[in-house]
Amino acid sequence: MQFFSTRNHAHTVSSAQAIVNGLAPDGGLYLPTTFPAFPMNELSHMTGEDISVRVLSSLFDDFSEEQIRRAVRAAYTDAFENGNIAPLVPVSDGYISELWHGPTCAFKDVALCLLPHLLTMAARSLDVTDTICILTATSGDTGSAALSGFTDVDGTGIIVFYPDGGVSPMQKRQMVTNEGKNTAVCAVHGNFDDAQSGVKAVFASDLHIPGVRFSSANSINIGRLAPQIAYYFQNYRDLMNRGVIALGDPVNFVVPTGNFGDILAGYFAARMGLPVGRLVCASNENRVLTDFFATGVYDRRREFHLTASPSMDILISSNLERLLALTVGDTKTAELMRDLKENGAYTLPADALSDMRRVFSAGWATDEACAEVIRRVFERDGYLMDTHTAVAYSVYEAWKTSEEGNGAPTVILSTASPYKFVSSVLRALGHTPTEDGFRDMQALSDISGMPIPHGLAKLRTATVHHTDITEPSEMQTYVAKIAAILGGRTNV
Ligand SMILES: *Cc1c(COP(=O)(O)O)cnc(C)c1O
Repeated sequence: MQFFSTRNHAHTVSSAQAIVNGLAPDGGLYLPTTFPAFPMNELSHMTGEDISVRVLSSLFDDFSEEQIRRAVRAAYTDAFENGNIAPLVPVSDGYISELWHGPTCAFKDVALCLLPHLLTMAARSLDVTDTICILTATSGDTGSAALSGFTDVDGTGIIVFYPDGGVSPMQKRQMVTNEGKNTAVCAVHGNFDDAQSGVKAVFASDLHIPGVRFSSANSINIGRLAPQIAYYFQNYRDLMNRGVIALGDPVNFVVPTGNFGDILAGYFAARMGLPVGRLVCASNENRVLTDFFATGVYDRRREFHLTASPSMDILISSNLERLLALTVGDTKTAELMRDLKENGAYTLPADALSDMRRVFSAGWATDEACAEVIRRVFERDGYLMDTHTAVAYSVYEAWKTSEEGNGAPTVILSTASPYKFVSSVLRALGHTPTEDGFRDMQALSDISGMPIPHGLAKLRTATVHHTDITEPSEMQTYVAKIAAILGGRTNV
């Protein structure tokens, strides 16, 4: 399989190269030249592992099926409860796909447990012998999931920068207690943008450390997107095997969306043959995507809202560029991306918008609506969801009675454990959170009867290993210091 840049279809690379490069040289994102057909008639007999292996090996054909199976096994078997990346729970008239049973209790684990293995396989197949050093700036979830995924994976190292005071206490604990021998975590005096700009500046610089190749773990990498395709097939299999649907029946998916990566994986699944009814894009008050699907105008020039679903507080949804390229082609995509960069906005041609709206619906929800949903569904069904899932659930309820709603079974993707955003969830249930996250988790457990996930409970007694802090202007020096250690293959 070849992969081309969203901004130039003539620029193609192998799957291994697409994974190692992350971003195409022209700034575009990689897309497969075709979507391989998934063998739907075999789906009902496949295990979750079989599904992941089939999806990944049909896209990443530089690796053998055996290699991919080993990687999937190494990534998921111990990290996820029963190795299951997407348990499906019926709630009222819908189905909730719980994608957060991994080590850091958010859905990013599904991709970030696997990405290190894909990266090292890709590097090996290209005869890259350098240590792959991941650089990440994080506002919370990505940093902890990436650290967890890359910890002690041979041939890799990772440096995570987070804004000092800009992540939740629990997210900070998840990061600074990391025990990996190849991991570095450093606070930055500044906000998330300072940390992010610092990382971008290192990538753009000519910093060269012998024995090291820098790479990125954010969702523009096709190696991070592809693992997410599998759980759409798995949810469909479960609905078939429970007798809810027959092979070929449509299923809708409602996806809490920020960077448009998760929902795009659902679109890829549809292109590979999954009978998808509608993909419903759910946003919080940063509703740039809702407006885009309503009007065809993408306009980031608006107020940025800090919400109770912080992992979706985004005004530039990078992965939308892939949907654009598949709809309007490379030349137009390059033009629209230029408009976005230079003017902060672009307008989609009308026919392209109606093409997209044949598959995509969109809606948004306020923090108040989400809190109401968390409380009502808990009281009605005994089911507790986090604030990101509540955005999707709220949008689902409005969507199903709208013009675009249909009677098909609907899966709502749940992207985080309620314990990960414990103070907002407690408040939604009418309780007053304290300053102490562990006490709050215990309170939530007493109320809900749901066990506290091990990955969060164990943080209480975990030892802090990372206390580094830097000025934004010193980030490159810090990277050079850590990378030199990684390049020498000694412990950080
Ligand atoms: C990252 C994240 C999202 C958004 O997913 P995208 O792929 O960026 O659209 C939603 N919920 C949670 C909890 C997340 O961490």
